[in-house]
Amino acid sequence: MADQLPHALQLCPFSDYLEGGLSKRVELVPWYSMDEAAQKAFLSSNAQDCRIVVTGGHIGCPPDLMRSLPALGLVAINGVGFDKVDLDLASSRSVGVSNTPDVLTEDVADLAVGLIIALRRGIVAGDAHVREGKWPGGDMALGRKVSGARFGIIGLGRIGRAIAARVAPFGEVGYNSRTARAPDYRHFSAITELAEWADVLIVACAANTETANLVDAEVLQALGSEGVLVNISRGSVVDEQALCDALEAGNINGAALDVFANEPHVPEAMRSSSRTVLTPHVASATVETRQAMADLVIANVDAFLAGEDLTTPVT
Ligand code: NAP
Repeated sequence: MADQLPHALQLCPFSDYLEGGLSKRVELVPWYSMDEAAQKAFLSSNAQDCRIVVTGGHIGCPPDLMRSLPALGLVAINGVGFDKVDLDLASSRSVGVSNTPDVLTEDVADLAVGLIIALRRGIVAGDAHVREGKWPGGDMALGRKVSGARFGIIGLGRIGRAIAARVAPFGEVGYNSRTARAPDYRHFSAITELAEWADVLIVACAANTETANLVDAEVLQALGSEGVLVNISRGSVVDEQALCDALEAGNINGAALDVFANEPHVPEAMRSSSRTVLTPHVASATVETRQAMADLVIANVDAFLAGEDLTTPVT
């Protein structure tokens, strides 16, 4: 029976729940754990039968792989970001692309708030201070207030709005996006102006060619030596070298980052800085949300196999 199922390439590890659900519907091929020779051998005998690629937002689908799968009809992303999938190439080959929006919005916004408070109030440093027995030797340096701060959000989409709703009770909210969308918050048409105004600059926009290195040395300079940067979007939106330089020179006060340009590798300057709080791309990583995301991936695979419209297509 299993050999009658279409093949689906799995480009990264998933939970047992998602792998189990997919395995009932497709012959799941653990592409991510195969070496180049095994991948080549697989393609030479099975490429015609590969209809689906299942992947993570941080990996997407390499264009060469897409081109080598003539029967490919669906790239199902277990995540929201689709910056690692060439949508024009997919469209030219009639390949549908799906993602898992909405179900992770709350978690990502929750983590953004956690990072803001952790950074401004020195929670991670404080934990180390106690654990490492430094407390008897003296108090920690003072933190900075969260209540009363100005929060500048880059990108007021689903996640940006959820962050705005959470931080509005703390202080003032301003934002930048290509269109002014929220009369309750102050709109800045220039990111440098938003950065100059904000105490906390939060990156929540989509990653695309327009937003690559959007937060550059000029924006960080505008944020200033008392300002902090929080990024839960994508590493590519921040010029990491400029950020490392700004942290080292004290041109900004600190940065809390869940995403990085070359994951899972994080620049040494960020890892060794006392001005950073770092998490390994875990903004959607709760049991409940990962299950809801898995259910959406499976719903999209089911819709595709039934020849129906995708449940949550990327448009
Ligand atoms: P969304 O609803 O599509 O919102 C994306 C926002 O980006 C839109 O409001 C858009 O506003 C803005 N944007 C696009 N280009 C821009 C530009 N050039 N300048 C300023 N703003 C721009 O997406 P979402 O669900 O909120 O997710 C946002 C991003 O979060 C995703 O793309 C993903 O990369 C990231 N994410 C990260 C994690 C994580 O684990 N850390 C989890 C989920 C998602 P305008 O169109 O008005 O410009």
